[in-house]
Amino acid sequence: MGAWRHLMQDSTIRQVVGFLSRLDSLPPAVDAGWRAGGLLGLPYDGSSSFLKGTAAAPPLIRQALHSRAGNPWTETGVDLGVDGALGDAGDVPLGTSAADARTKIEESVRTLLEAGGRPIALGGDHSVTYPIVRAVRWFHPQLSILHFDAHPDLYPELEGDRYSHACPFARVMEERLADRLVQVGIRTSTAVQRAEAERYGVEVIDMRAWVAGRRPELRAPVYVSIDIDAFDPAFAPGVSHREPGGLTVREVLAVLHGLTVPLVGADIVEFNPAQDPSGMTATLCAKLVKEVAGKMTS
Ligand code: MN
Ligand code: MN
Repeated sequence: MGAWRHLMQDSTIRQVVGFLSRLDSLPPAVDAGWRAGGLLGLPYDGSSSFLKGTAAAPPLIRQALHSRAGNPWTETGVDLGVDGALGDAGDVPLGTSAADARTKIEESVRTLLEAGGRPIALGGDHSVTYPIVRAVRWFHPQLSILHFDAHPDLYPELEGDRYSHACPFARVMEERLADRLVQVGIRTSTAVQRAEAERYGVEVIDMRAWVAGRRPELRAPVYVSIDIDAFDPAFAPGVSHREPGGLTVREVLAVLHGLTVPLVGADIVEFNPAQDPSGMTATLCAKLVKEVAGKMTS
């Protein structure tokens, strides 16, 4: 807890700033910074099974978010430039130990929730979602998860690792950390993962079902986990596992904008800057941060 608590104190003094504000325009009260979404960078890729690189994502997403190419308004008409609309706790210092990273992630998310914020975690690989959801579940006895991904991430273990980025939703369901798991964008299911989905009652809207018109219907507070490879690589080449035949940006935004239940937390994971020479994928991540944060204020 030590390092993170220090960071949080730093945050409360210097880093909990409104969108685009600087050190000379601090919000008057700390809690004002946490009324809605609070960014939390999780620079960790130690549980990636193929390419490394997602640990470098958080600062690049922030850079795109604060770029003067855009403005702080969401499509839904929320001005994230207002103090308190979007906080930023900075990055959690995570080493290379997976177990240690999970502990720090869970503690840091709990700290943010205790402060009244709603976490918007910037990965990092998808393994971060399991410790995040462990923390979120404490605050939300009724919780659904809406998971965008090309992959179900339901393997019992991968290459001997139960906490691989291919496994977070197996751990979530095993520990009953969500009442419902609804997956969208899936197009890589293996026999093992189909069996696990069945066993845990996962509601899978794979790409074929999506094209046939099936859409998620949520009734409880929702946590949204967005693996960037859910998008077609045409929109988001900057991922470790490119899988053609995915969702468009507009399709995902339509689901987010259409949410009628409280959005209590989110993660945007698996953006790999090493695969993103044009910077387009960073821009997409920033767009997602904005629209997610906008929904959190409403
Ligand atoms: Mn994926
Ligand atoms: Mn994933």
